[in-house]
Amino acid sequence: MSDMLKSIIAILFGLSLLTACGGGNNEAEQEPETNTETMAEESNEATLSIEGNDQMQFDKKELTVKAGQTVTLTLKHSGTMAKAAMGHNWVLLSPGTDVATFAESAVAAGEENDYVPTEGNAVIAYTKLIGGGETATVEFTAPAAGSYEFICSFPGHWAMMRGTLIVE
Ligand code: ZN
Repeated sequence: MSDMLKSIIAILFGLSLLTACGGGNNEAEQEPETNTETMAEESNEATLSIEGNDQMQFDKKELTVKAGQTVTLTLKHSGTMAKAAMGHNWVLLSPGTDVATFAESAVAAGEENDYVPTEGNAVIAYTKLIGGGETATVEFTAPAAGSYEFICSFPGHWAMMRGTLIVE
C-alpha cells in the first residue's frame, strides 16, 4: 500500500513537473506566434532578385511567387559592360505570347523604350534596361496561378536569357 502511495506521489510530482514545463513552453510558444504573424504579413509580399552578367546569362531560370502577392523584383547587372553593348532588362510576358515574335517587336521598340514594346498586352511587368553595375527594380501584382515566361528583351538576348516565373 505504501509502495502504491509512493507511486502516486511520484506520479503527482511528475505531473507537477510537467505542468511547470508546460508553463515554460507557453512562454516559448509566444515567439513562434509572433513570427507567424510576421510571416502572415509578409506572405502578401514577395521579394525577388535576379542577376544578369556579361556572359548574357540570368543567374536564375525559375522564380516562384504566390498569386496576388505584391512582388518587388530587383534586377542586378553583375557585369561591367555598357548598357549599349550588354544591356539587360527583365520582362515578364503574358501567357500565350510568342517569344520570338515579341523579341522582334522589342528590337523595333528600341533602346529609348528599354526594348519594351508598349503596344498590346504581352508585357505584364518589366524593369528598365541597365548596364554593368546597375540595378533596376519593378513592383507588380503576381497574376493568376500558372507559368509565365520572362526574358531579357535586349536584341539577341532572349534565346539565352529566359526563364519561368511560377505563380502558385
Ligand atoms: Zn540582356
